[in-house]
Amino acid sequence: MTVSHILGYPRIGAQRELKKVTEAYWKGEVRRDELEAAGQALRLAHWQTQQAAGLDMVSVGDFAFYDHVLNVSVLLGAVPGRFQAEDEVNAGCIDLDTAFRMARGRAPSGTPAAACEMTKYFDTNYHYLVPELHRDQTFTLASSRLFDEVDEALKAGFTPKVTLIGPLTWLWLGKAKGSEFDRLDLLDSVLDVYSEALSRLATQGVEWVQLDEPALVQDLPLSWQQAYERAYYRLQSTPLKLLVATYFGSLGDNLPLATRLPVEGLHIDAVRAPEQVAGVIDRLSPQQVLSVGVVDGRNIWRADLATLRERLLPLKVRLGKRLWLAPSCSLLHVPVDLRQETELDAELLNWLAFARQKLDEVVTLARLIDNRATPEDEQRLSDATRALDARRESPRTRQPAVGERLAAVTSADSQRQSPYVERTQAQRRLLALPLFPTTTIGSFPQTDAIRAARRAFKAGELSQTDYEAKMREEIAHAVARQEALGLDVLVHGEAERNDMVEYFGEQLDGFAFTRFGWVQSYGTRCVKPPIIVGDVSRPTPMTVRWSEYAQSLTQTPMKGMLTGPVTILQWSFVRDDQPRATTCRQIALALRDEVCDLEAAGISIIQIDEPALREGLPLRQSEWQTYLNWAVESFQLSAAGVADSTQIHTHMCYSEFNDIIGAIAALDADVITIETSRSDMQLLDAFQDFAYPNEIGPGVYDIHSPNIPDIAWMVSLMERALKKIPAERLWINPDCGLKTRRWAEVEPALANMVEAALQLRQRY
Ligand code: GLN
Ligand code: ZN
Repeated sequence: MTVSHILGYPRIGAQRELKKVTEAYWKGEVRRDELEAAGQALRLAHWQTQQAAGLDMVSVGDFAFYDHVLNVSVLLGAVPGRFQAEDEVNAGCIDLDTAFRMARGRAPSGTPAAACEMTKYFDTNYHYLVPELHRDQTFTLASSRLFDEVDEALKAGFTPKVTLIGPLTWLWLGKAKGSEFDRLDLLDSVLDVYSEALSRLATQGVEWVQLDEPALVQDLPLSWQQAYERAYYRLQSTPLKLLVATYFGSLGDNLPLATRLPVEGLHIDAVRAPEQVAGVIDRLSPQQVLSVGVVDGRNIWRADLATLRERLLPLKVRLGKRLWLAPSCSLLHVPVDLRQETELDAELLNWLAFARQKLDEVVTLARLIDNRATPEDEQRLSDATRALDARRESPRTRQPAVGERLAAVTSADSQRQSPYVERTQAQRRLLALPLFPTTTIGSFPQTDAIRAARRAFKAGELSQTDYEAKMREEIAHAVARQEALGLDVLVHGEAERNDMVEYFGEQLDGFAFTRFGWVQSYGTRCVKPPIIVGDVSRPTPMTVRWSEYAQSLTQTPMKGMLTGPVTILQWSFVRDDQPRATTCRQIALALRDEVCDLEAAGISIIQIDEPALREGLPLRQSEWQTYLNWAVESFQLSAAGVADSTQIHTHMCYSEFNDIIGAIAALDADVITIETSRSDMQLLDAFQDFAYPNEIGPGVYDIHSPNIPDIAWMVSLMERALKKIPAERLWINPDCGLKTRRWAEVEPALANMVEAALQLRQRY
């Protein structure tokens, strides 16, 4: 019999129950025991769902009130000193509020302290809390939460498979703090705790533990490869079976290593890297289990069961009962249950599968290749085939005009008319901006009034005309305030936008939206990515009337504001029937029309935001260049249709540019605004070393903080910038958009920023 299992299930709940109860607990509206009970109810419901679907084991250890990587840090007692948890660590029971303080700086109990850093988990949009590692740090089993959850599952009659981030990947995700040292120095102590935890799980009666080691699909230094062998030889002695889980890509050069590990099973991603299956099978030892991830855990499309069955049958012949089936990775990265989407049209509904539906797909596949398919399985098989055929042939996925336009694109289309040195002359003549021009990144506060108006509009309580009038009022208000502040380049403030991707997706052809398609981004924050269903095109202008209106209110240049093609791609569920690059270029051409229309409407500065450019980087360095080539080309395609005198801006809110500075320069934006205030202008070094030729606006204050930035401090930051970039090429702006701030913070902050610019102009 083929075992069917999953690597993890979404924990937020189909109705985002976990978000709601956790936030209520933080606010003091829900007691601790109520929070714990709600968590337990969700776990039981999810196990019940998995068992009812027919999986052979349920996933335990994938639940977390905030983050499962944080849970492992807590299990290991890796709590930074500022959280003052020594007693809890020593007693082996770190409090939930301590974990919440690590995650967000504060909790209903305990002294607030700076939260741990958060960053994206591999190439997903899920953020984990970065383990803080110190030289000579030791670890100790400091939480019984996992074991309690195992007991809970056993008592309720489920067969648990425990899932945990593996020891090497946990260290790999961690960051050395304080003096420099090799994180691998800590491995032995980490392994002590893993061994102890595994022994305890064995005592509880757990048969299988899945250790997630996605670091194995990345480029690993030799010392890390060697550490893998050492670590798993040590863990081998524990009296239970280990399944090492790899996902998000191919094992590549780590394939021999991964198949050599002395563990009972290996999981591989056969969605992103189907070509690796044969090589892995050749190398597995004759007792090892191979779990093949065949259902896409990163996307929402229905699986092609017939094709998968054909692909799996020969594997079944070779592996017999050593073949397991699963989704490619944890289902954490997809929405919970399609059955809630009662308002989605029947055609599209038929093409999709969310987490709940993916369980059925895995179970059905297992029974199909075992020749024990039920009539229901046969039905699912033929339904899937019919749905996939319909999707392939649907006019909704193909617009011939889009394909033809893309095919006709030439390299000239991605080049501006003249090089930057000439464009800047034309722009200076047209715009007549002072030295150190001041501007903002786009959004102004999304006030309660704005949100209320949008809610009322969406609920049908406010007419389109009244809603638009209200938004125009907000825009007029933002323009007046900026004029009073004396900013040199204004923005309309983005009042009319709910979200920087959804807003465009709603107006472009080829996109679809769900009502409940929430995916956890971090902690209690969930996102609802649009679905790119078909060829993308722009039926009508999207932002022009807003920008035109804003410009009509003032003589000062108004910056048009667009989200870039890579960011729209990156923050959506993308179609799986054509390369990402093709979809990205289609979006680029749609945006190109918008850029040209803005120019024709008299907007002479246009910003194309690409905050997601960096996160699209593939997990393997060898694939970076290919990605950067099409990502850069897409940006250029969207930007290059305008005259020399039209100034193109871009914005990226992060601070690592060293390894992609060549691509950043290749974008050839006239101005780039970036996040720098927290890095003390250090990241400008990358621009200086590269001799970056165009203009730069290094953010002079952190918009994440409510603090009002000091004039002298911003002047000193700019003085530092001036050591690296000549004055004629520097702009002054905040780090990012201001939508999360209040006007009471924004106005004095920008007043100080403008004053800092005035002082600098007197000196240069
Ligand atoms: N223009 C957007 C804003 O100001 C940019 C947001 C972002 O970089 N994430 O809100
Ligand atoms: Zn930003």
